[in-house]
Amino acid sequence: MIRGHRFLILIIWLAAVMAGSASLWSGTGIGLDRFLREVRDSIRQRPGSGEIVIVEIDAKSLKAIDRWPWPRRFHGQLVERLHAAGARTIGFDVDFSAPSSATDDAQFAAALAKAGGSVILPTFRQPIASGKSDFLENVPIPELRGQAFLASVNVHPDGDGQVRTYHGGVETAGKTRPSLAAVIAEHSGQSVDAFPIDTAIDPASIPRLSFSDVVAGAFPRDVVKGKRVIVGATAIELGDRYAMPGLGVIPGVVIQAMAAETLIAGRGQPSLGGLPLLMVSLVVAFGALKRRSSKGRAAWFAGSAAAILVAPLATEAGRLGMLDAVPAIAVLLVAAALSATLSIATAFRVRLLSDADTGLPNLRALNEARGFDGGFVVTARLARYGDTLAVLGPVATGELVSRAAERLAIHADAERIFRVREDTLAWLVFQTDHELADSIEGLAALFRSPITLPGRAIEVNLAFGAAIVADNCGVSAAKAILAADHAAANGLRWTLHNEALGAEVDWRLALLGEFDSAIADGQFWVAYQPKASMQSGEIIGAEALVRWNHPVRGLVPPDHFIPVIEPSRHILDLSLFVLNRALDDQAEWRAAGLDLSVAVNVSTPLLDEPRFAKHVADALKRTGVNPAKLTLEITESAALADADRAVAAMEALRALGVQLSIDDYGTGQSTLSYLKRLPASEIKIDKSFVQNLPDSHNDRILVRSTIELAHELNFKVVAEGIEDLACLELLRTFGCDVAQGWHIGRPMPSAQLMERLLDRTELAA
Ligand code: C2E
Ligand code: MG
Ligand code: MG
Repeated sequence: MIRGHRFLILIIWLAAVMAGSASLWSGTGIGLDRFLREVRDSIRQRPGSGEIVIVEIDAKSLKAIDRWPWPRRFHGQLVERLHAAGARTIGFDVDFSAPSSATDDAQFAAALAKAGGSVILPTFRQPIASGKSDFLENVPIPELRGQAFLASVNVHPDGDGQVRTYHGGVETAGKTRPSLAAVIAEHSGQSVDAFPIDTAIDPASIPRLSFSDVVAGAFPRDVVKGKRVIVGATAIELGDRYAMPGLGVIPGVVIQAMAAETLIAGRGQPSLGGLPLLMVSLVVAFGALKRRSSKGRAAWFAGSAAAILVAPLATEAGRLGMLDAVPAIAVLLVAAALSATLSIATAFRVRLLSDADTGLPNLRALNEARGFDGGFVVTARLARYGDTLAVLGPVATGELVSRAAERLAIHADAERIFRVREDTLAWLVFQTDHELADSIEGLAALFRSPITLPGRAIEVNLAFGAAIVADNCGVSAAKAILAADHAAANGLRWTLHNEALGAEVDWRLALLGEFDSAIADGQFWVAYQPKASMQSGEIIGAEALVRWNHPVRGLVPPDHFIPVIEPSRHILDLSLFVLNRALDDQAEWRAAGLDLSVAVNVSTPLLDEPRFAKHVADALKRTGVNPAKLTLEITESAALADADRAVAAMEALRALGVQLSIDDYGTGQSTLSYLKRLPASEIKIDKSFVQNLPDSHNDRILVRSTIELAHELNFKVVAEGIEDLACLELLRTFGCDVAQGWHIGRPMPSAQLMERLLDRTELAA
């Protein structure tokens, strides 16, 4: 159990004590204990002592002596035969309380007298009248009882009708009568207390003789020689039958014999109840609860439960007494169940508060840290985490992060290093601003040497962030993470969080929140920037560029909001809005007699969107635009990031018949021959190369050679960002195919574009 759980252990233990005591005092589980006893009895099953022989009044005898009740002379003959065969005692479980014929009674009495007092006749205690609580004892008629011992043959079923116990004797109106079994076992004179019948004795092992065979003398004499005989009814029609657990319904005489065997075997085992094992279980439960590992606890519980189940077997086999196991088992079960629940809850909490890959405490754990008000949360962000993960895989990356955390822990003077984000570690310190700056410099220096993993050394670059713990460690950690991101994005060693950083994030969040309603409110519209053919000077197409007229912020440039919404689902909505608007407008231009193609920018994440090609096909179908008149611009970096994926996505688009163009060419350092793998037919040289063309010799060489090579590879070349005539002329001499830029035209509303082009066509006409 984890630290600080002593109190819970005690609570669990007390609950177990209560469960065990409740079971003990209420007798709940008695059925289970009886069942366990039956199981134990079947394990220890053994034959009787061989001392006892049953003479049964069975169906065969009833048939042989075809009258019931039998004339008593038969009982007399039976006694004579048994006595002659050397039986030690003869006990009857047959009612002789009413006189029969005088001669028969006399004959029986004579036989008893001859047997010399070795015969026991039954008495029977019963209520005076049904429903009365006074009892009387039925005894044999005087002629008979004068010649024999008397013993009670009462059987005492439990409340459920099952016979489990037998009595040493019965007491009627202050007079004590030993039981038949007690007399047979020669235990008479002892207490009248109940004792459990040992059901481990196999009743089938007690030898039996048929009454009629004995009377006929047809039995081996040595079966009864020196033995104690019990005579009673086993024939079903005589009805003297009782249920016994594990044995089913058996004749009363067999119960008498089993009870006698129980006494002969030693004595009726005393029932020790549930208390002894309960005490043991409380001790072992406490021992188990103190185990630290949950496996150890489970083993301890299982072991002690097994021991507690086996202990009664041992005490019963050793005839020390019968133990009830259920209260003890209740203790173990409750303790085990509660401790399992607790360890699941504990494991869950540990998991909740730690990072699965490294086992380091996570952001949530940091959030729960207390007592750092006025200190700093410091964060360290690993540069190029995505690349590392891609190259090393998750396991080695986790290892790398663990190593980095170890290195930081030693020198950052922090108790714990948290992994607050996949690529970011954090810790809490009390330092002055100066100390903080120094320690961050020191830590950065520490990471100049690479981290070695099996088989490789890895360079780790960190950008640090820090925030003062003001409100709550978790909130402050978020600020420190933001600060580290800021440092990483701006190539700084570290950034201390300030409110301006927060405002920037605020704006990004607000923007995402406003996006849906902005689309619905028509705050977005599409501007078109004309593209001219270098050869003819004609406007041959236009690029659709989205515009956001924000009611408060005014015109928000796409460079500001597209990167923000790109990771979200909004990018698909926005792209489809622009695509559909552009195709609607293209249809309108065509209707007005203007044969222009239209270019639409495709955001990188859309290459991963399986439905995108389908959306494009739908839009083309809806507007009836010729697919060849639609160009989709894909940035060079998108084409580079995952070539196979990009090729597949672009092929799906190409299959629709649309043109594909590589936008911002030159910013991604890909070679043209590499781009040839893509199904694109056009490249757009980025405006950063075009703008300085008249002034930069280098750019001129670069652009010129690019155009030549592109032509060799069958690409059409578009130059964007042409701001003046000089630039346009240069590009014309380089053989560039299409021109785009302020010099040709600024992005403008569709209506304005149409107006301009129609005026021109009219002029020409
Ligand atoms: P881009 O696709 O490279 O678009 C060209 C950008 O260059 C446009 O900026 C255009 O206004 C600007 N530009 C054109 N000629 C000149 C010039 O002569 N000089 C200068 N200095 N700039 C010129 P804009 O409209 O701000 O768009 C910026 C970027 O936002 C676009 O770059 C494009 O990547 C993205 N974008 C715009 N609209 C969409 C859209 O609907 N969907 C997606 N995914 N991205 C869009
Ligand atoms: Mg573009
Ligand atoms: Mg561009």
